[in-house]
Amino acid sequence: MYKVLIHHATYETVSEAIKKAFEVFPFDLCGKKVLIKPNVLRASQPEEGITTHPMILRAVVDTVEMMKPISIIVGDNSGVFSYGANEDAFIKTGLMEAAKGYYQNIGTDSIKVDFNPDFLSTISISRVALESDFIISIPKFKTHGLTVLSGGIKNSYGFLPGAQKARLHKAAGNPERFNNLIVEVFRIRVPDFFIVDGIVAMEGNGPASSDLRETNLVLASDNAVALDGVMATMMGCDPGRLRFLQRARELNLGDYDLNHLEIVGDITIIPDFKLPPLGGEAVHSNRAMENLLNSRVLLKPRVDEGSCTGCGTCVGQCPVSALKMSDRFPQVDTDQCITCFCCQEICPSKSIILQ
Ligand code: SF4
Ligand code: SF4
Repeated sequence: MYKVLIHHATYETVSEAIKKAFEVFPFDLCGKKVLIKPNVLRASQPEEGITTHPMILRAVVDTVEMMKPISIIVGDNSGVFSYGANEDAFIKTGLMEAAKGYYQNIGTDSIKVDFNPDFLSTISISRVALESDFIISIPKFKTHGLTVLSGGIKNSYGFLPGAQKARLHKAAGNPERFNNLIVEVFRIRVPDFFIVDGIVAMEGNGPASSDLRETNLVLASDNAVALDGVMATMMGCDPGRLRFLQRARELNLGDYDLNHLEIVGDITIIPDFKLPPLGGEAVHSNRAMENLLNSRVLLKPRVDEGSCTGCGTCVGQCPVSALKMSDRFPQVDTDQCITCFCCQEICPSKSIILQ
């Protein structure tokens, strides 16, 4: 039976929650090469809630250190890696300091592996993800426009260095395939332990929404399907409606059925939790979910010229060259655009609007 811990915590008391997590899941890390992977979507302040909070990373590093591993690496491939800003993202998020000297830019060394040819026949993945003995994934409790939520399974997408993410977005082509794709990436090397930063959760149009909610929770599990299923339930969403969870269960990667899970703590639905646009009622029926996914395909990005700084970052990120600078602002070629949302993910000014 898969087990999920749900524990009350604030950032001030997070060390107790992490201690509890390792009591409930008593792993032996002595002599092991440990990789700790927070979610570092981009350079942002900790209080923006876009990335794993540094205090939870710090508490995990402190605890792992005491377990005498042979080595510790803290790393992630942020969306801005291709611009040489991985370190910058760690510094701005406070995660560099929280990593206590164990930070490593894991995007600089990768291994090419065979992949599902429905997407790409080979992909490159950070070497450390394949060569670590034990991986601790620390996702944020947050929503995601394409997958509804971004938790244990989605956090593994960060094992892909730089533009790999965009290439695979392109290869997926539509939201349903993207949901299948993240499971394919996840199962290349399934992390061993998951600890979710749910102290401040993100609702609304994640993964970089400004809608935050103090939920004061830390979740932990040794199974991401169970964990993400619990997250979905707490968001007020039936996990059985989420394509990536369906796919993960089809592949025997775990189970999200609450009847098959041991919950340590109280599972409660967060009142009026806001799911991504067009989610709402949509996630409560298969047909509506299908419409939701289809609508995401139809969405196109538009640049808000009022807030756009003309930095051009989105232009360089677009995998199909659908963005070009014209005068001071990028223009979208909607015929070329594959709605990968990479430009929305990367824009430091939140100036990309999906319509
Ligand atoms: S839309 Fe965003 S990333 Fe693109 S040029 Fe404007 S501010 Fe920069
Ligand atoms: S314009 Fe934006 S959403 Fe469209 S393909 Fe380029 S990066 Fe993706």
